[in-house]
Amino acid sequence: MRVSFYGVRGSIATAGEATRRYGGNTPCVAVEVAGEQLIFDAGTGIRALGSDLARATGVGRVHANLFFSHLHWDHIQGFPFFGPAYVPGNRLDIWHVRAGDGAPPAREVLADQMRPPTFPVGLELMGGDLCFHELSLGDVVRVGQARLRHAAVDHPNGCVAWRVDHDGHAIVYATDLEHEADAPPPALVELAAGADLLIYDAMYTPEEYAGVSGPSRRGWGHSTFEAGAAVAEAAGVRELCLFHHDPSHDDGFMDALAARARRRFPATTVAREDMVIELGEPRGHARVALPGSPSVEAVAAL
Ligand SMILES: [Zn+2]
Ligand SMILES: [Zn+2]
Repeated sequence: MRVSFYGVRGSIATAGEATRRYGGNTPCVAVEVAGEQLIFDAGTGIRALGSDLARATGVGRVHANLFFSHLHWDHIQGFPFFGPAYVPGNRLDIWHVRAGDGAPPAREVLADQMRPPTFPVGLELMGGDLCFHELSLGDVVRVGQARLRHAAVDHPNGCVAWRVDHDGHAIVYATDLEHEADAPPPALVELAAGADLLIYDAMYTPEEYAGVSGPSRRGWGHSTFEAGAAVAEAAGVRELCLFHHDPSHDDGFMDALAARARRRFPATTVAREDMVIELGEPRGHARVALPGSPSVEAVAAL
């Protein structure tokens, strides 16, 4: 499995010099597994992913599977800029778990953000084959040789964490969730059990979460590195990857947060745009760079 980070920022994109090294695009993570292309969330990072997929296939067809954690703005706002969706002959399977009986399906929410007066191009102008799959909580999905499970997590309007299993390796994508650091949710611990990699919402510092200076972030739907470490320990996860960075946390702040998080859980990585993690290498686990990436941590750090 090859995990590529295209958007790691939470809530709103943060262009600019202060966030250049970690990146400013909102959530989008690509996972290549046994020839299948999986995408988690359609934040602003999905635009560059679309360009990479089109370039990689040349005149060939793009077939990808897009899995939504939930439909908050920062997880869907890149969707209208996903180029392969406009190309006839391409296919995009879109997977979404309904948060409840009254919750709208993904197609409706994506179409609503592509209507005048806020957007000029309608969803119906996407010429690719868009196949929407609305799932019930607990449904298991198979894409080629990969198996995907999910679990509900605590977040306003609902959200799910996803797990991908293939050939003895597993990654978990758990963004936009909240719990006390000393109370890892059993369903999430079960989902993450034995995973190689846990991508986890660590938007706030423990002090921000508790409201030591400024408002408490309790109830805002996001977590801390301490809460992530507690899940990783309880689940026996090999590596914790902090994700969904706060827009106000610039690169210097993130460096300090990374060092602090590693003191709590040594096998901690902080997600950066262009970072790539390979699972299933002969060594068992290796990290490589995209060409030209300024943001790759040394393999030796593992
Ligand atoms: Zn979010
Ligand atoms: Zn959210």
